Amino acid sequence: LEAKEEFSHKTRAMDVMRPRKSDPALTVITQDTMSVEEVEAIVGSTTYSGYPVVVSRASQRLVGFVLRRDLIISIENARKKQDGIVSTSIVCFTDYCPPLPPSSPSVLKLRSILDLSPFTVTDETPMEIVVDIFRKLGLRQCLVTHNGKLLGIITKKDVLKHIAQMANQDPESILFN
Ligand code: ADP
Repeated sequence: LEAKEEFSHKTRAMDVMRPRKSDPALTVITQDTMSVEEVEAIVGSTTYSGYPVVVSRASQRLVGFVLRRDLIISIENARKKQDGIVSTSIVCFTDYCPPLPPSSPSVLKLRSILDLSPFTVTDETPMEIVVDIFRKLGLRQCLVTHNGKLLGIITKKDVLKHIAQMANQDPESILFN
């Protein structure tokens, strides 16, 4: 029996990840095009523990993952202590920040707070494998991709909810998986 067939009827990462089909899109930060005030607006209007950083919204290529608390602290510190950081400063997570016109404000470089290799699985990955990875690696969250493009996120709480649901439906499947 091929692994693919064996798992074809089971829950996959795409069934558990957020956003769900009817939900608004995943909240992401772009690597070198958002201003300090745009990033502050994202952090201020959402409560997620972290945000995937992508090359651009159009490409949805994953660059890394940044924690909400690190973003808040770094922006607050930079605004207080770093010369030239203002609301319109560009936030840059790349090694080399894009050249800007001479009149533009200083760039806020946040490469150091970016996790460059967040754990990812593809959307087809069976949830029992995802659960196993969360358990064994002690993950807090995992990103979901399809053909290299970012699709969604699964947090530890999402996994726990999924386990509880499975337990309600079919206790044996939890025992034996
Ligand atoms: P927790 O799952 O522990 O409450 P979060 O507050 O980070 O952690 O996430 C709350 C919910 O929002 C989860 O279901 C998660 O999958 C989803 N989520 C997390 N980060 C994002 C994001 N950047 N964009 C959209 N949804 C997200």
